[in-house]
Amino acid sequence: MLAVTDRMKRKHNLRGEVMSENKIAATTINKDDLIVIGGAGGFIAGALTRYFADQGFTRIRAIDKKPLYQWYQVTPGVESLCMDLSEKESAIRACEGAKEVYNLAADMGGMGFIEKFRVECLRSILINTHMIEAAYNAGAERYFFSSSACAYNVTLQNDPNCRALKETDAYPAMCERGYGWEKMLSEMFCEEYWAERGMKTAIARFHNVYGPYGTWDGGREKAPAALARKVIEAKDTGNLKIDIWGDGSQTRSFMYIDDCVKGIDMIMHAENLTATAINLGSSELIAIEDLVTYAEEIGGVKLERTHDLDAPKGVAGRNSDNTMILEKLGWEPKTPFKEGLAKTYAWIEQQYNDRKAGKRTVS
Ligand code: NAD
Repeated sequence: MLAVTDRMKRKHNLRGEVMSENKIAATTINKDDLIVIGGAGGFIAGALTRYFADQGFTRIRAIDKKPLYQWYQVTPGVESLCMDLSEKESAIRACEGAKEVYNLAADMGGMGFIEKFRVECLRSILINTHMIEAAYNAGAERYFFSSSACAYNVTLQNDPNCRALKETDAYPAMCERGYGWEKMLSEMFCEEYWAERGMKTAIARFHNVYGPYGTWDGGREKAPAALARKVIEAKDTGNLKIDIWGDGSQTRSFMYIDDCVKGIDMIMHAENLTATAINLGSSELIAIEDLVTYAEEIGGVKLERTHDLDAPKGVAGRNSDNTMILEKLGWEPKTPFKEGLAKTYAWIEQQYNDRKAGKRTVS
């Protein structure tokens, strides 16, 4: 862990009885304290699990509703459980004995998924609702929630050259339908569990995360993985064309996975960020059309471009204003996009070839 934790007083239990008063006991997170990570069969939580294991944490409980063989990464030595965290009993079992709980489980995907399956996205509210309550009742010291830039007011994102979004832009709220509103309400749960019950919570609003061990095919993949795969496919099949969702002018920032897990750790343990939603994203703005060019350069190919204007494309532009994270942590995600994309492309190409060879792959 990057920081030392203070255990703040737990003011009240569920019935409002005073549990302890005016005591702030300084503790550190020990390498044998139990860390619980929800959604660990997926992309980011899978990488987070590996990150903590690499740091020498010996008691990590990783949980996902997918069967183990479908997990993107299974870290050796980690207790890996298949449970549906939208169910109360599973959430209670998951959080038993936890010192820290990281909830990254959600039914989600790229624009193609979140525009089409709003009900599934909204239903992730059950996961956070049960997990935060279970973490609190288990006496966990800290709770992390993975929010999203989709919680921001969509009316501020109508222009590809939009100004970067700062944390205060979330209110007045006009979130992305379905997915964004679930994130916003779950953020509020985190704020109130601190304000009313004294459990330290951390809330990061991720801006598009990409990298190896992420979804790269099947409908839930995001733009960098989808476009890298299309370039690889075009090269392999000799059909030198690429179909781009929207007119290609949409802009986004993309955060490399290594920056994301480091940022989660820093935000979780920052005493000046308790229950405070903060951007976790790169501030390097990329147009989708340029993303295609970079992927072509990596692949050493030039493709004929077509644009599907009816495909889901999300807001016109979105970037992360990193003033707050720089001020609070003196750090921001800074892997250059071209560098991260090259690593991601190489990994997807390997996956693509493995699949062709009949081997098991992530997507
Ligand atoms: P992912 O889909 O790869 O991982 C999410 C995992 O949660 C999946 O493995 C899924 O099986 C699991 N899950 C879903 N419902 C569950 C349930 N009921 N019980 C247990 N597990 C369940 O997604 P990701 O990209 O790793 O995203 C992780 C978190 O970060 C999510 O909360 C997501 O909304 C948030 N986020 C991601 C991005 C991004 O660009 N990837 C951007 C903003 C926010």
